Amino acid sequence: MNRFIAVGILVLICITGQTQEYPKDYFQQPVDGKLLLSGNFGELRSDHFHSGLDFKTGGKIGAKIYASADGYIARIKISLSGFGKAIYIKHPNGYITVYGHLNHFSKDIESYVRKKQYERESFTIELFPKASELKVKKGEVIAFSGNTGGSAGPHLHYEIRDSKTEKPINPVFFGFKIKDYIKPKIKAVKIYASSENSKINDKNEDVVYKTSGWGLKYRLKNDPSIKVKGPISLGISTYDLTNDSYNKVGVYQISLKVDSQLVYRHKIERFAFSESKYINSFIDYAHYIAERERFQRIEKDPGNKLSLYGRVENSGVLEFNDTLVHHVVYEVMDVHNNISRLQFNVQSELSDSISGEEKKKKNWFDYRNANKYSHSTIKLNFKKRSFYRSFEFKVSEKKHKLPAYSNEFAIHTDQTPVHRPFTIQIPLKSIKTEMKEKLFIARINDGEYSLQNSKFTGDTISATLRKFGNYVVIADTTKPTIKALNIHNGKNIEGYKRLVFEIDDDLSGVDEFRATINDKWILCEYEPKTKRLVYTIDDRMQKGENRVVLRIKDACQNEKTFEAVVSF
Ligand SMILES: [Zn+2]
Repeated sequence: MNRFIAVGILVLICITGQTQEYPKDYFQQPVDGKLLLSGNFGELRSDHFHSGLDFKTGGKIGAKIYASADGYIARIKISLSGFGKAIYIKHPNGYITVYGHLNHFSKDIESYVRKKQYERESFTIELFPKASELKVKKGEVIAFSGNTGGSAGPHLHYEIRDSKTEKPINPVFFGFKIKDYIKPKIKAVKIYASSENSKINDKNEDVVYKTSGWGLKYRLKNDPSIKVKGPISLGISTYDLTNDSYNKVGVYQISLKVDSQLVYRHKIERFAFSESKYINSFIDYAHYIAERERFQRIEKDPGNKLSLYGRVENSGVLEFNDTLVHHVVYEVMDVHNNISRLQFNVQSELSDSISGEEKKKKNWFDYRNANKYSHSTIKLNFKKRSFYRSFEFKVSEKKHKLPAYSNEFAIHTDQTPVHRPFTIQIPLKSIKTEMKEKLFIARINDGEYSLQNSKFTGDTISATLRKFGNYVVIADTTKPTIKALNIHNGKNIEGYKRLVFEIDDDLSGVDEFRATINDKWILCEYEPKTKRLVYTIDDRMQKGENRVVLRIKDACQNEKTFEAVVSF
């Protein structure tokens, strides 16, 4: 290729922001009809960026799901959370397509999975079929849509991944036709006082400004005059909409110019799953925890390794130190090139001279290092790079309101994000051996307990935690419950298609279930959202009398058994 043409193409690619070419006609859409989104790629979710497109299925379960192209099923996973029932197809062109929250698989795949479930005596399963085992053709029905796993309503979660790197890529780049003429919405801007000496309108406080206007004509509501002094930074609250769908989705690219100079840009074309959690540094995490609104920050914390940034001048901190009016222009673009623009001015003032005295800080956590906190009542251990920036760490303890086996510990604050799991150890005195398996460390959230997988070593209970917040040791001594919805002892169930149970546990949750007929394991499907456990009657149920046993356990080894003899 001519060198000048090559340079020209490179420049063009940089301008449009798309860095790579993807095949446009290779993959067919996985659902019938007009493609409507309830979620899009890169959308901001809790602790992660959304890794695919969520296609609507008319609010219903059971829509046909098609293989996007020829290939073979390389992975099948059934889990109670995440993508629920999911299929991964490997294609010869170097991509993998993923289909999640499925209700059930097509006949051949279903019987393949069922056989393995019976072999392993487990409903949840992860399989990696060989290339020769489950080949699929483009357009072949592979499954039926559902609402399994961590799904809040019926839809198909669809992904395209690079098979070498496993990185998900925005499927829109592969030519799917999604109608989107709607420009992103810009809700608000937040100006941050980035240092102790920074001032916004004479105060050392962050300020949120709501917007008015539309499309290319966004401005700040009532055109406020804004004075800034010292280093400041910015954040924006924005979302996108697509045609014929009410669901708010994510924007593709945000850029910021100050006095016509590009100072910030990011875009979400692809990312690695391993970096998805940096979203907690990408957004204003504290604001999100407090108000449930996500501001996307231009400031990049030193410990943030997200690859989405194109340009971040001076780590996203603006330092004017003059007496001029500065013009700020935010540009927000969705993946279909609809652009919205917000403009406003700030009046800069000369910075105060900074008093150079550094206060000595107790429990200073350097984000680059491993850190620990040790006290007679609690020990905490953090790996290297567990935080996005350094800070002064605090722990306090008080008596818990309800009966508990330890004090309630406030571990720093839930508004500070933690990147890596950390360990907690709480020494407890004189706990009887039989009581130890009933105790667990619980996170307290709005008065609700959430169990953390805990274990005893000697007289110390420990757990691996993922978030700061309030923790306490409590006991779960209550048995889980079983309600048989369509059988009882002695019942004649001739002609029945399935047995249905409602199972539940109040504190630690149903952790294990095992059902048998005449002492042989039977496959039960469990859906935690509806608490339903369903056995679809198969040849394990014999003519005549059958002894049905269901045994469930919670995470603290509390057990409940249901038994019935039924005739079939
Ligand atoms: Zn999804």
